[in-house]
Amino acid sequence: MHKTGIIFFPAFDLAISPTHPEREERLLYTRDQIFEEGILDHPQIVEYTPRLAEEKDIQRVHFCVPDIAAQTTTAHFISAGSALKLADALMTGEIKNGFSLVRPPGHHALRVVHGNRGFCNINNEAILVEYLRQRYKIKKIVIVDTDVHHGDGTQDIFYHDPDVLFISLHQDGRTLYPRTGFVNETGGPGAYLKTINIPLPPGTTDEGFLKVWREIIKPILDDFAPELIINSAGQDNHFTDPLANMLVSSQGYAQLTKELKPDLAVLEGGYAIETALPYVNLGILLALANLNYSFVVEPEGQAEKLKQAKSVSQYIDEIIIYWQKKMSEIPPSKEELFAGKKVYTTNKHHYYDTDNIREQQQESVFYCPDCPGLYQVISQSRRGYGRDYSLKGISIPLYACPQCEEKGASLWHKAQKEKLYDLYYLQDKKNDLYIQESK
Ligand SMILES: [Zn+2]
Ligand SMILES: [Zn+2]
Ligand SMILES: [Zn+2]
Repeated sequence: MHKTGIIFFPAFDLAISPTHPEREERLLYTRDQIFEEGILDHPQIVEYTPRLAEEKDIQRVHFCVPDIAAQTTTAHFISAGSALKLADALMTGEIKNGFSLVRPPGHHALRVVHGNRGFCNINNEAILVEYLRQRYKIKKIVIVDTDVHHGDGTQDIFYHDPDVLFISLHQDGRTLYPRTGFVNETGGPGAYLKTINIPLPPGTTDEGFLKVWREIIKPILDDFAPELIINSAGQDNHFTDPLANMLVSSQGYAQLTKELKPDLAVLEGGYAIETALPYVNLGILLALANLNYSFVVEPEGQAEKLKQAKSVSQYIDEIIIYWQKKMSEIPPSKEELFAGKKVYTTNKHHYYDTDNIREQQQESVFYCPDCPGLYQVISQSRRGYGRDYSLKGISIPLYACPQCEEKGASLWHKAQKEKLYDLYYLQDKKNDLYIQESK
């Protein structure tokens, strides 16, 4: 009951070149470090083997174009499935928390998947959330994304979901991929302030990282009172990460983990495979297991030399004041946020950096006073190479009221007859039913 579960699996991927930043070697140094320290011998830590996710687990979250097979390899099923296996162990009381140390990552994967974005195809944390809700009837879940990149995929998936609070702290999008995650992205009209973005300046150290956690995230999280906490545990805020510019150390990550107390942590990014991941992973694991992590220090005392510039501290203080003020205001009502309209429509453009795909999207959420409301997406891809696809997806929320459930079914029947798009998807979360048809 007091154990910390760990799944460690650096799934080998034939599709990835030996120099790719997100290759399986990312995790091999971590494995050495964990063995060297004898961590797995601790009675508090129990290792599990991965299992494969099922197609249905993915369909609860994504509209994969043209199908799941085209967007996944076995590694994706292992990565998503490992988190689900730890979720089962958690929910049956075998473990008190767990850490899924797997690849590939997932937090840049959007609801519609035309290809790979930021090394992600399917969203492991979103799949985990929908699984926990469907199987264990957990209602309120928070995801805290501590990867240096904005978790734009997770944000996209839960943007209109009032029962999932998504909090991302990351290096400011003006200086880093995916160039989103600003303070004004606060959730759709039915889920206002259920998306919280905290963009941090380059050069943020443990001091700023922990201050933001204590003064912004923790009060918001406590106020939401989640039944379960998930941590998208990206490690690229580390001072040696080659893709970003932050100055966080393994001690900072471990301390945050100790205070956040996630029920489940899922590895996201982190590309300094020798200098960061072994230390950060070890620190997180020890913190989860409530073991001493003070000895986990990067070599040559580099971490001790990290100093946060005055300008960085000032900027962080301003963000803290911004959020404290925002959270003290009386929020507008759902009716006001819909501004008297029956449907809230957003036009979006997505770029898939790794696969060179451009996507145009129209997203519609239907106003309902009694439930989160129906969701519809129309999407058109333009590929640098290969075939373009258009699609329409209809999603009936898990907690849909009877009227919306009925209306969703009739929207789907109408859609099946219109033959305007290449692909049609029904995602009926209420009945856990998923259908895909082509024109
Ligand atoms: Zn993040
Ligand atoms: Zn990242
Ligand atoms: Zn409704």
